[in-house]
Amino acid sequence: MNYYSTRSLTETTAAGAIAGGLAPDGGLFVPMEIPALTVSDLEALCKMDYRQRAVNVMARYLPEFSAEELEGFAKAAYGENFDDPAIAPVHALDDKTSFLELWHGPTCAFKDMALQMLPHLLTASLKKNGEQRQVCILVATSGDTGKAALQGFADVAGTKIMVFYPNGGVSDVQRLQMVTQQGNNVGVCAVQGNFDDAQTGVKQIFGNADIASQLNSRGWFLSSANSINWGRLLPQVVYYISAYCDEVNAGRIQMGEKINFVVPTGNFGNILAGWYAKQMGLPVNRFVCASNENNVLTDFIRTGTYNRNRPFHVTASPSMDILVSSNLERLLFTLSGSAPETDGYMKDLREKGQYTVSRELLGKLQSEFSCGFCDDVRTRAAIGSLWAEHHYLMDTHTAVAYQVLCDYRKETGDDTPAVVVSTASPFKFCDHVLTAIGGNADAPGVQLIDRLSQASGIPAPKPLAGLAEREVRFRGCVEKNLMPQTVLDFI
Ligand SMILES: *Cc1c(COP(=O)(O)O)cnc(C)c1O
Repeated sequence: MNYYSTRSLTETTAAGAIAGGLAPDGGLFVPMEIPALTVSDLEALCKMDYRQRAVNVMARYLPEFSAEELEGFAKAAYGENFDDPAIAPVHALDDKTSFLELWHGPTCAFKDMALQMLPHLLTASLKKNGEQRQVCILVATSGDTGKAALQGFADVAGTKIMVFYPNGGVSDVQRLQMVTQQGNNVGVCAVQGNFDDAQTGVKQIFGNADIASQLNSRGWFLSSANSINWGRLLPQVVYYISAYCDEVNAGRIQMGEKINFVVPTGNFGNILAGWYAKQMGLPVNRFVCASNENNVLTDFIRTGTYNRNRPFHVTASPSMDILVSSNLERLLFTLSGSAPETDGYMKDLREKGQYTVSRELLGKLQSEFSCGFCDDVRTRAAIGSLWAEHHYLMDTHTAVAYQVLCDYRKETGDDTPAVVVSTASPFKFCDHVLTAIGGNADAPGVQLIDRLSQASGIPAPKPLAGLAEREVRFRGCVEKNLMPQTVLDFI
């Protein structure tokens, strides 16, 4: 099965899509057809563990990869580095509500689900493409991607990784996780500006022919670990299917019964992976797209106009502080079935900062997606009340989704069993979580890890314990226009 670009139908193989990241025309690669998942496939998947599920699902999209290869990747990606043998366990809250916990990996956020797998997919894809050069991964991060990518690529032969994060735009814990990263091939640098500035800066470096030729002559080229890479998205399709199987196995739903997924959304990568699972045949009723105060997606799903010309808010859920959701392009392409139409929307977005989709496209979008948003005050209230009533602790991103689910149920009366996709450990955002459960958060974030552990009686995840004592390796902070030079100096 091949892949093509959302903007010009340029075609490539699965390995080509993963090795390339972005398509040459600036579009994103999408599979030309979506593999089907039958009920008997699902029944078979129910009997498997997470690794086997990952191999089974990913193989359907990766014809050039042998089962043996994928088994090796799954073993390396989803093993002792996770603190729960289920890898992506489902926590049942009540009859109709569960949390899919995607933060049991080495950096305590859901990005690990993909970024523990991506280095294996990427290095193998490069080999299959006969690539002789070494690859430097460039990442713009709103917090969690950076650390997860650093952790995934640290000391992987033939690679380097450089991460840019918005200065002041990530949590204290997130920043320390990154600037203390070990490994001989890693670099981390702050950028004056917000996440969109960092992301735009990285995109410009990718599009800069002069940098490409300088690097080429030194035997290097650039690639991306951002969620625009198909190799990031594909491993995420797995956990939607896995969660469904776990719900069936636990007797909470019948095989074939539809469920809703509620997803705290930023770049639209996570929720889009769920949508692919549904296109394959996973019984899903609706996806609820949850945003924080940066509610550009809420407005889009309600009105059909995507408008990034609006104030940017720094919120308690920083990984969702995003005004340009890159992965939406894949959905627009598949729903419209038209590369020129998609290209037109993206051109409007670049030139005017907004676009309005056709009525037909909006209708299709609304038939599968609902939406809502939640500000910081309600986010903290949701954390506090869930803790008080159920003794279940959520992070701020998950809390946005949970509150939006409560709102959605009230508004629509839809009581379909729902799975809230839980994207980070509460210990990654201790200050907000501690305040929310009535604790005192008047110290830097890292010192609050112990405090939150004492207040909740929950041990802090191993990767976060002792963070304050680790050596800071990276202190750089640059203006946006110095990002290209920073990359050249790094390689
Ligand atoms: C990245 C991230 C999100 C947003 O996911 P997208 O795929 O960008 O929509 C939500 N929560 C957390 C904790 C994250 O790290």
